Parts: sequence; structure tokens; C-alpha cells
Amino acid sequence: MPPKVVRRTLDLAGVGVPLIEITGSSDGPQLTVLAGVHGCEYASMAGVRTWARALESRELHGRVRAVPVLNMSAFRARTPFVVPEDGKNLNRCFPGNPSGTLAERLAHATFTKLIAGMDAVIDVHCGDMVEALEPFTLYETGPAEDRARALAMAYGLGYVLRQEPGPDRAVGGTTSSAAAQIGVPAITAEAGGCGLVEQAAVDLHVRGLDRVLATLGMTEAADGATAADGGAGGDGGPTAEDLSRFIWLRCADEGWWEPAVGAGAKVAKGQVLGSVTSIDGASTQEVISAPADGVLLFLTSSPAVAADGLLLGLGAS
Ligand SMILES: [Zn+2]
Repeated sequence: MPPKVVRRTLDLAGVGVPLIEITGSSDGPQLTVLAGVHGCEYASMAGVRTWARALESRELHGRVRAVPVLNMSAFRARTPFVVPEDGKNLNRCFPGNPSGTLAERLAHATFTKLIAGMDAVIDVHCGDMVEALEPFTLYETGPAEDRARALAMAYGLGYVLRQEPGPDRAVGGTTSSAAAQIGVPAITAEAGGCGLVEQAAVDLHVRGLDRVLATLGMTEAADGATAADGGAGGDGGPTAEDLSRFIWLRCADEGWWEPAVGAGAKVAKGQVLGSVTSIDGASTQEVISAPADGVLLFLTSSPAVAADGLLLGLGAS
């Protein structure tokens, strides 16, 4: 029997957020899938839209709650990274604050209504408007770590990054870190970037979400979501390279950023990754080199960088 589908607008801290609720004909896990925590990450939104439509005609156990765009005001305004009303990065605000600014209140409402109490949470991202990105999945240590890791592996991207809370952590306050702290298995899955809807990245997300459903026992494995397709490692299912450090590099002063390598490049410690020059082109302000061996998981594709501007993220083992 096909699942029951309800499309409605959910009120989260006064923000009307599109929600697709897909309830299977038999009991099973409760899964939340979020996209658009960042307002210009279109490949991940497209993946969730496509995947949710396809799910309507499939046999499902349990319930899926899918949000194709969470940060609606950023989506409308085409504002990358932040919630335009308060300038805060929503994905640094979890688990949120019910009496804070809009981003903090939106995080709190999302955490309360769509993350707490779930059996799994998948937060789908890509590089934002000015970020090129190599596909990877991130999960956090915590009481649900083993289940989170299983979801990250199932998603089937080339790199899996394990983050531990502490001073070395590149990003805190994310959906998946807040979920990890309350024992909800969660991952952040990244594929696509640069404000584009690249079909290859959309396909990675659709395939990854299908594999998550199969891993949770909510569907039979879909056609193609087996070890036979791309990125898979034989009969044992997908394989990925494990990374345990996420190193973000920034420039000192504003200027013109010119990367010397692309997203996905494997680099050696000391290798030059790019430079920041003066805007008039006359002088080199800074040469950026790799602090460790690793793979470039994302880099800023725009030449315009501010003081203390983010240039790239390096994944290291
Ligand atoms: Zn994002």
C-alpha cells in the first residue's frame, strides 16, 4: 500500500517552513530529512525534493518528515551562509534558544519539533553560493555514534569525517552535533556547490537518502542503491575514506583569493593551496599552504575575501 502523504506549512518560530510528511502503511522508524539550513544550497534542496516525490509511490515502514528548505528567508533573499534577519549562521545555533534572535529561535523550534525524539536525522547540505565542494559526510561522537557512522557510510560519499567536541572542532552548534548530544543518530551529508543544481550531486543525495531508508529498515533497498553502483566497494556496500580532522584555513586581511588547487585535490603538508593578493593586483599579501596531508573538502570559489575570511576546509586523517 502506498504511504500517506501530507504537505503542509510548519510554523517554526514564526517562519512558515514547507514540510512533507510521508507515513508508511506499517510502523517503523521516525526519520527527519532537512535541507536548506543554508539558503542557497540548491543541489541538496533539489535532492530532497526529488527523493520525497519518488517516495510517495514506494512501500514505506515508519514515517519520514522532509523539509526541502528550512531557512526560508535566506532562500527568498538568496542570502548564503546566514539568516538575513540577524546575520547568524543557523547551523552554528543548534540546539537553539527560544528567546534568542531569529536564527536561535528557528534552531530551537527545529530541534524541538524535528530532531528530538527521532530515530535518525539527515541534514543535507552542499557548498553554498561561493563554495566548491568534494562530496563527504560528517558525524559526531556521542552515545549514538555507531548508528550515526552506519548512516554516514550508507550515504555512500567518498569521505566520512568523524568530529569530536572540543577546541579542535571546526564547527559546533550544527544540527548533527546537537542531535548527537541527545543520542539521536544524525549526519550532515554534503554534495554539490556554487549555487548550482548539478544533476550528479542531486543524484548522490537521492541515492544516499534511499540507502539511509534501507539501512533503517524503512524500505527494501531500491534498485541501484546497492553495491553495484558508483562509489561502492563491492559486495560489502559503499566504502569511504575515514577522516578525523577538519581544518579550516582563513586569510588575515581582505583581498583577492586565488586557489591553486581544486576541491577534491589530495595535498601534501606544505603544498601551496593558493594566495591572497591585493585587489589592485600589485602585491601578494599571503600564500596559503597545507598544514597537513589531506584532501580539500571545500574551497571558496569567489575571489572576494574579507579579513579573517574562510578560504578552504581540509580533511585529514
Ligand atoms: Zn550548508
